[in-house]
Amino acid sequence: MVDLCPDDTPELKAWRQEVRDFLEKALPEPWTFWYDYDEDPASWERYLDFWRQVGKKRWTALTWPTEYYGLGRPAIEKWILEEEFVNHDVPTYPVIGMHVAGYLLRHGTHEQRCKHLKGIADATVLWGEGYSEPGAGSDLARLTTKAHRDGDEWVINGQKTLGTAAHFCQWMSVLARTDPDGPRHAGISCFLVPLDAPGIEMLPLDNMADGRQNMTYFDDVRVPADSLLGDENQAWTQIWFGMGGERLDNAGPSLGPHAMRILPLLNRVIRYCRQTTRGGRRLGDDPVVRQQLGELMVGVEALKLQAYELYGIAQSGKASRFGEASMHMHQAVYKEFWPHLAQVCMEIVGPMAQIQGGKWAQLNGDIEHYFRASFGNHAGGTSQLKRMVLATRGLGLPR
Ligand SMILES: Cc1cc2nc3c(=O)[nH]c(=O)nc-3n(C[C@H](O)[C@H](O)[C@H](O)COP(=O)(O)OP(=O)(O)OC[C@H]3O[C@@H](n4cnc5c(N)ncnc54)[C@H](O)[C@@H]3O)c2cc1C
Repeated sequence: MVDLCPDDTPELKAWRQEVRDFLEKALPEPWTFWYDYDEDPASWERYLDFWRQVGKKRWTALTWPTEYYGLGRPAIEKWILEEEFVNHDVPTYPVIGMHVAGYLLRHGTHEQRCKHLKGIADATVLWGEGYSEPGAGSDLARLTTKAHRDGDEWVINGQKTLGTAAHFCQWMSVLARTDPDGPRHAGISCFLVPLDAPGIEMLPLDNMADGRQNMTYFDDVRVPADSLLGDENQAWTQIWFGMGGERLDNAGPSLGPHAMRILPLLNRVIRYCRQTTRGGRRLGDDPVVRQQLGELMVGVEALKLQAYELYGIAQSGKASRFGEASMHMHQAVYKEFWPHLAQVCMEIVGPMAQIQGGKWAQLNGDIEHYFRASFGNHAGGTSQLKRMVLATRGLGLPR
């Protein structure tokens, strides 16, 4: 198995152990929970409780500057922390809203960072993402939500869709058109919007894997002038980072979704095959099952290698067109591999995978839930779009 992490110094070994010790106490049993596919209030409470413990230690802000609630530690320590968190199957890594922290650290003012970063890091203030609109998903630059300046305020009007778990959030990062006459990519700005502002209404969009996205309506919503994040009309570059580019940021490269969504599940299925007997034979002794597991593991290892490559690119400080293309390739592969893995896991567990409760439920019914969730793989951009970006920006093909 791929193990390229250079954690051979005594200090890094000690750090890995410290993370393991913390997890043993904070989460004695691994627990699969995805905030985008779970509405159970008790589970949400438990999820937030876990992340508040992590946040209290400032480990959510491990690599951030100490000035802003961070610990100023090197990226390799974050990488090791993520590896351990994934191996332990923690509830959704990272905690919801962390994308805004990346924006704030790169583009925010000192005041905005002081105001928002601590609440994000200690999971006491949750942030949703308000980018997609009914007519602007893959082609996000078509967005029509508008913001205009009125004295010391911005006034926002429009509609956002598919906002994951936004009804659990207190704030939202919202993209709006601030220059209706300029080129469509150049006239967009990002705003930090409290979700209790007058004029905001939210309606549910239930997804088929038991989670909820939201329609969010903005009707003359007024926010102070300093709610603008970064420079006016310059949000397109910020969006690019929000769509995965943060993984090329040398302050915080991340293991990536393959680890969070795929590896813990595959490990569970492998354990299940070792322990379960069918027709007098251990499932793991079935040659077809062995082939299937082997094939899935090859996929996971390939994703892991890509993630390591991205880490290397980020650390080299050469986040270039090549790095960007590698990232999109990684995402395209992951997005297509996820439903495939879910399908094969369903086949391995068999028809009983569909039972959600009671003594016949296998692996707590999680495989079937995972199967349904895998169709949400277009969150953050579809694989077709990732392929298109790869073709144009990576291979230099014409649009
Ligand atoms: C579970 C989930 C959570 C989400 N969470 C959020 C969130 O929190 N905040 C937020 O703002 N948005 C969120 N989204 C929205 C997500 O970003 C969009 O669904 C995604 O960008 C695709 O847009 P669309 O759904 O409008 O599909 P469309 O853009 O209408 O695409 C439809 C189909 O056409 C294909 N297609 C479109 N253009 C091209 C092209 N040029 N070349 C090839 N194929 C193309 C697509 O690949 C897709 O298969 C979420 C979506 C899901 C499913």
